Amino acid sequence: MKEYKICLLPGDGIGPEIIAEGVKVLDAVGAKYDTAFEYTEASIGGCAIDAYGTALPDSTLEAAKASDAVLLAAVGGPKWDTTDPSKPRPEQGLLGIRKGLELYTNLRPVQIFSALAGASTLKPEVIAGVDLMMVRELTGGVYFGRRERFYDEEGAGVNGARGQRAYDTMEYREYEIERIARQAFEAARKRRGKVTSVDKANVLESSRLWREIVHAIHDADYPDVELEDILVDNCAMQLITRPADFDVMVTENMFGDILSDEAAQITGSLGMLASASLGDGTALYEPSHGSAPDIAGRGIANPLAQILSVEMMLRYSFAMQEGADDIRRAVTEVLDAGWRTGDIADADTPADKTVGTARMGSLVVERL
Ligand code: NAD
Repeated sequence: MKEYKICLLPGDGIGPEIIAEGVKVLDAVGAKYDTAFEYTEASIGGCAIDAYGTALPDSTLEAAKASDAVLLAAVGGPKWDTTDPSKPRPEQGLLGIRKGLELYTNLRPVQIFSALAGASTLKPEVIAGVDLMMVRELTGGVYFGRRERFYDEEGAGVNGARGQRAYDTMEYREYEIERIARQAFEAARKRRGKVTSVDKANVLESSRLWREIVHAIHDADYPDVELEDILVDNCAMQLITRPADFDVMVTENMFGDILSDEAAQITGSLGMLASASLGDGTALYEPSHGSAPDIAGRGIANPLAQILSVEMMLRYSFAMQEGADDIRRAVTEVLDAGWRTGDIADADTPADKTVGTARMGSLVVERL
């Protein structure tokens, strides 16, 4: 029997509710394929701030490093919202664990489940056949660059003589671009063989370096993959006018943050999209959505994005392709049979087919 250690990070809001369904599914796949998953649970985000005064306690990072994979739900909530730079914030937990595990690649598949095609705000003919993989650089760029806020005589504000000034720096090193480019080309080889590299090379120096390195890696090692460049503003438009034309899209951290939420919306439900964050060691899997504080504690959150993040874990960390395929098939069958959580239900969904978090998880498990 194979054994894997999984570090569970439920976090805040709906996190504990949806991660329980992820565990149910993992256990069911484990039982089917003679694999034991052993769990340790640790704190991250707002609940960690309450208990330890920091969004990422050292013990959490250690538990994550000692595991074969990390399953995260979501962090954050109004209780911890602050603009005071001296106060801890839940997202510091996310940024910290990405940095601590050196998770420099974020993979977000965007696929349409045909049963949910009507949930998209785009026309059916526009979304038909959408199947793209967003590859986002995760540990560099403006989210990690030098930043400062200070008083500046030149910047006098509306409130008085002394104005404030702030800057953030978008910085990339050659090796950071090279390794994410390789991940994108490798992913494209397993898919339809096309990479779209997104930048702002007409304005930003870091983007000109990005484009140069992506092309150098392509020409040297991946000439068989088709490569196109696109400016980020144009990309934001093309994503909603011709989303089915994209295969793998690779971009830096902040552009990827924004574009991946836009791409997620193509499907019509954030509650359906999973993501994987990979480096060279322990990887982390999580839903693309946040902690949904507006519906927390009511047992109505959609657990499918969390369950599909378990599918990615099986695929990328444990090479359990059959188990991963089983999960995708089970989720597709549940949706085809008409079962919906509130966020993906529509006017045609009968009341007896609208289910809560735990029931949705059980419906998937029954089909495994
Ligand atoms: P959100 O994704 O939490 O919620 C947006 C909307 O989608 C809400 O109406 C919510 O009810 C709904 N929703 C999200 N996931 C759902 C699910 N599984 N089932 C049913 N409905 C779902 O985004 P937000 O409201 O902008 O942020 C809420 C908190 O989450 C904030 O504190 C934010 O910082 C945090 N956040 C965390 C992450 C993360 O942990 N990776 C990502 C984004 C936002």
